[in-house]
Amino acid sequence: MTIAVLDLATETAKLLAELGVDASRYHGGTLSVTSPVTGKEIGKLREHSVSETKAAIEAAHRAFLEWRAVPAPKRGELVRLLGEELRASKAALGRLVSIEVGKITSEGLGEVQEMIDICDFAVGLSRQLYGLTIATERSEHRMMESWHPLGVIGIISAFNFPVAVWSWNAALAMVCGNSTVWKPSEKTPLTALAVQALFEKALKRFVAEGGTAPANLSTLIIGGREVGEVLVDHPKIPLVSATGSTAMGRAVGPRLSQRFARAILELGGNNAAIVCPSADLDLTLRGVAFSAMGTAGQRCTTLRRLFVHESVYDQLVPRLQKAYGSVTIGNPLETGTLVGPLIDGQAFKNMQAALGEAKSAGGTVTGGDRVETGSTEAFYVRPALVEMPDQTGPVEHETFAPILYVMKYSDFDEVLALHNAVPQGLSSSIFTNDMREAETFVSARGSDCGIANVNLGPSGAEIGGAFGGEKETGGGRESGSDAWKAYMRRSTNTINYGRTLPLAQGVKFDVE
Ligand code: NAD
Repeated sequence: MTIAVLDLATETAKLLAELGVDASRYHGGTLSVTSPVTGKEIGKLREHSVSETKAAIEAAHRAFLEWRAVPAPKRGELVRLLGEELRASKAALGRLVSIEVGKITSEGLGEVQEMIDICDFAVGLSRQLYGLTIATERSEHRMMESWHPLGVIGIISAFNFPVAVWSWNAALAMVCGNSTVWKPSEKTPLTALAVQALFEKALKRFVAEGGTAPANLSTLIIGGREVGEVLVDHPKIPLVSATGSTAMGRAVGPRLSQRFARAILELGGNNAAIVCPSADLDLTLRGVAFSAMGTAGQRCTTLRRLFVHESVYDQLVPRLQKAYGSVTIGNPLETGTLVGPLIDGQAFKNMQAALGEAKSAGGTVTGGDRVETGSTEAFYVRPALVEMPDQTGPVEHETFAPILYVMKYSDFDEVLALHNAVPQGLSSSIFTNDMREAETFVSARGSDCGIANVNLGPSGAEIGGAFGGEKETGGGRESGSDAWKAYMRRSTNTINYGRTLPLAQGVKFDVE
């Protein structure tokens, strides 16, 4: 491979210019950003201080007070324009995602497509923020629910979906009448700068076309944990949507509940698939390969545990081993590559440590070694397939790298119990053509995850469904379905249109 000779700093600068980001925003600061493709620096950003972050939240609050008065379908028009800007810049932004995170090109573009999709969804939603009308026990009264804007929404995002996660939150938050303050991962601030520039372009068009929108409706804060904590603790942020590791959620969750703020926690997963005797093995092979090796194992929904029925184990596992041995690893910007780099050296160390633990626990490892690229600073690995005697040690944790633990099972009820016997509860799947197994898996006594699929892998969700998981995954839901309700406050209204005052539950309280 020729990774070492790529000049991604120059290409990054060109893309950022095309996307409307001024060069002063990524030159001269102290936050160094490297591309995992080469391991070399592609930008240096100035970080926001704590006091700047506090001031930005106050300004976002002032924006909220104005924006909440704009009718929701008009707010939707701004999000429609944002979707148009994203469509026009899909190629450039997708390429930048690939450079900053190391995703293969179709996945970089796919991430931007997901942003476009959620904008479309939110535009429709802007005319559908429905409340209920509820039967009341009192005559000549009407009871109803209204949904009102909530306030400034804090968004903290992880490196691996550097821009889509913002859009899942921001597109909904905005049509719901809120302003947003976004702190992206310190590993991926360049794509965030680009998204902010596209938003500002959409905002300008919105105002030029007669729309009313305040300044500071969407604010970007650059920095690490310290500025993230300002969002978490600030009394003018009623909801923080935080995406990242379970360790981050453990720090953030209690602080939010301490001040009675709402949380959408989207944390780590340890996703499994069960392969049953009747499974279509060709389809299973493709489903497992994409879910386990795609994005170099760096999706929250990546398949990490595979339970294979003993009757098909010897047919499927050798085919998987072959696929693991032949998958194209390398420069994610080149056509044909399926597995790009890990985000950094720490991720590589974590992967090697987990493989070491797996061996000590009796695992047999295929792959997992470093792939040479001529660069000491970029970390490419061959995805690892580990046959494990049982579900112990590293199998119970999320290691954010392409490691698939494979285990044999014989009894369906036992494998269901094992499936659910980890602390995380994000995504899951079953491969079967047996209707009873499929229906049981998605039933109340089946998978305990937020996402349960049949005959496809656990990764690669679409925006129409609510996204998130249970247990240590945090319980949050964002994106589609009725996830929008988290970004609004519910008001129950009772209206008396009569001339008497009947009290509920027949209570009497007559005064002269
Ligand atoms: P991370 O936890 O290291 O960081 C995530 C974000 O949290 C970053 O912006 C970071 O600066 C911020 N942060 C960390 N500690 C904080 C604190 N105490 N207060 C405020 N902010 C804080 O995660 P990462 O390495 O960027 O991402 C990988 C992890 O994210 C994996 O565990 C993955 O499963 C998870 N993830 C989950 C989802 C989901 O929807 N469930 C989606 C993507 C990634």
